[in-house]
Amino acid sequence: MIYFDNASSTKLNDLVFEEMMIWQRDFYANPSSNHKFARKSKVAIENSRNKVAELLGVKPSEVFFTSSATESNNCILQNAVKNLKIKEFITSKLEHDSVFQTIQKISLEKNIKVFFVRNNIDGDLDLNSLEILLKKSKKPFVSLMHINNEISNINDIYSLSEISKRYGAFFHTDCVQSLGKINFKIDDNFDYISASSHKFHGPKGCGIIYAKNANIESFIYGGSQERNLRAGTENVSSIVGFAKALEISIKDLDKNFLYVENLKKIFIEKILKEEKIKFNGNSGILEKSSPYILNIGIENQDEENFLIYSLDSFGICATASSACSSGVEKKSRVIENLKKKISPIRISLSIYNNENEINFFFEKLHQILNF
Ligand code: PLP
Repeated sequence: MIYFDNASSTKLNDLVFEEMMIWQRDFYANPSSNHKFARKSKVAIENSRNKVAELLGVKPSEVFFTSSATESNNCILQNAVKNLKIKEFITSKLEHDSVFQTIQKISLEKNIKVFFVRNNIDGDLDLNSLEILLKKSKKPFVSLMHINNEISNINDIYSLSEISKRYGAFFHTDCVQSLGKINFKIDDNFDYISASSHKFHGPKGCGIIYAKNANIESFIYGGSQERNLRAGTENVSSIVGFAKALEISIKDLDKNFLYVENLKKIFIEKILKEEKIKFNGNSGILEKSSPYILNIGIENQDEENFLIYSLDSFGICATASSACSSGVEKKSRVIENLKKKISPIRISLSIYNNENEINFFFEKLHQILNF
């Protein structure tokens, strides 16, 4: 099998798995119980929080564990309406569904206006358009992702957040495709970030919220776990796994980045030789995209599912769009908003891929398309 679907989920790192197993198998007490055995689990959670906070350069009190980045995004956006009392959302049409759909639903329910920052045909966000929206806005909350999970574009979150703060807006950025993969710093202009460990060789079922000055309130009601933010018995082994995976990813970040960037270069060189294959978004420009994601389209080949299924029959795992919306047999909203009419194939890489796999991919692609 050739796994080119790392933007959907990644292989668990062996060291992370080993560490998680201890907390899954041996320390089964409820971390909230009042005995020594349970306190070991509680301490493991707090040690993980301290480790994550240190790696992110923030305070432990600003880090909250959730079940996924989807939950983190829901919590952050609902908090914006319920507790920050914002009046408008400013976002883009290129966000992941966990932001895009959540904003759609909340805005309908609570009568909140939504405005979209404009993007060009390659998915670049227009900073001017953000500023124009902010100038006439009332108590806005800006949510713009760091790296686009489909087209790979790296958004300039430092400028986007700086402009947002100049107009008194709250700023959230979804860092799911960047944390543990590319170098970035949590800037003072960021109020909230969200991320998920299964994207950087950690476990599924564990996300985080960074909330500046812990400015966030309850989302799931019940017990007092996660300092009253999120009731429910903590997923201790996954929380430990999140911290371990982040530690390893950040330690090896530059080395991994160079390795994967080199694979992407090889991909790009090969694609440039193919007349009928085009890049979607900025995914073919190394400086403007993540080395971990490529998005290509084949001219006059509208049946994206045909290609994905054919690749699958050769043991090549790739997707047409985000895993969350694939299977629904609908066109990618992100690609539709680029106004390009090329059906996408997303290839997303990790350190576990190699050049032979890329050669095999092209061999089979030629076979499928009779090039
Ligand atoms: N945000 C982005 C940009 C993503 O790519 C994803 C998952 O693909 C998510 C949010 C949702 O993450 P999770 O799977 O942890 O819910």
